[in-house]
Amino acid sequence: MPVSPKSLEALNARIVACERCPRLRTHCTEVARVRRRAYSDWEYWGRPVPSFGDPDARVLALGLAPGAHGSNRTGRPFTGDGSGDFLYPVLHEAGFASHPRASSRDDGLTLTGLWITSVVRCAPPGNKPSPEELRNCAPWVDEEIALLKNLRVVVCLGRIAFDGLLAHEQRRGAAIVRSSYTFAHGAEYTLPSGLAVIASYHPSLQNTNTGKLTRPMFFEIFKRARQLAGLG
Ligand code: SF4
Repeated sequence: MPVSPKSLEALNARIVACERCPRLRTHCTEVARVRRRAYSDWEYWGRPVPSFGDPDARVLALGLAPGAHGSNRTGRPFTGDGSGDFLYPVLHEAGFASHPRASSRDDGLTLTGLWITSVVRCAPPGNKPSPEELRNCAPWVDEEIALLKNLRVVVCLGRIAFDGLLAHEQRRGAAIVRSSYTFAHGAEYTLPSGLAVIASYHPSLQNTNTGKLTRPMFFEIFKRARQLAGLG
């Protein structure tokens, strides 16, 4: 079923204007004001980061939160930091991204079959959103998943995203026994709603620099997502 891009655009416009978390809004604004020396000539985005991708996506990549000097700077998920430098080459190799690099909102990158979002849309201090901030942002994920009519597979990037998706499923009314869903890299589940879930380590520098997550491991995740989504 084709999805109206306008409905997702309208949702993104509301997300960008969101002010539900005073601590995060203050932090993002302050990071954007001070800036990192290497990006002193950038005008930071500094607002909640809108989602990005193909409105007809069958696969959703669900991350944790924007990076302070990555998407909080560029205004697009995983764009302009080490996590994105690891993610987009894999998405390109797996056939989801038009280019292997993501540098800015106007770099011409497009996604096919994939939508990217996160459980929190504002960069949190220390990459650690509070439970209240996770709850505040959850309705955006609910609305987004409801709009992605062709969605079949969710790739959860990290444990917090995995827990966030299970919480979403519970809000939809599903009886989820949490102990039946254990986070492990490569673990697969089918949720009561019919969505397939693949858990993955997050492509943070902490994981990729230490070899906990390697490029072949990450590629296998998105190759499997294609298979489960019927994308070949
Ligand atoms: S984290 Fe989410 S709920 Fe909180 S201010 Fe940002 S967009 Fe709004």
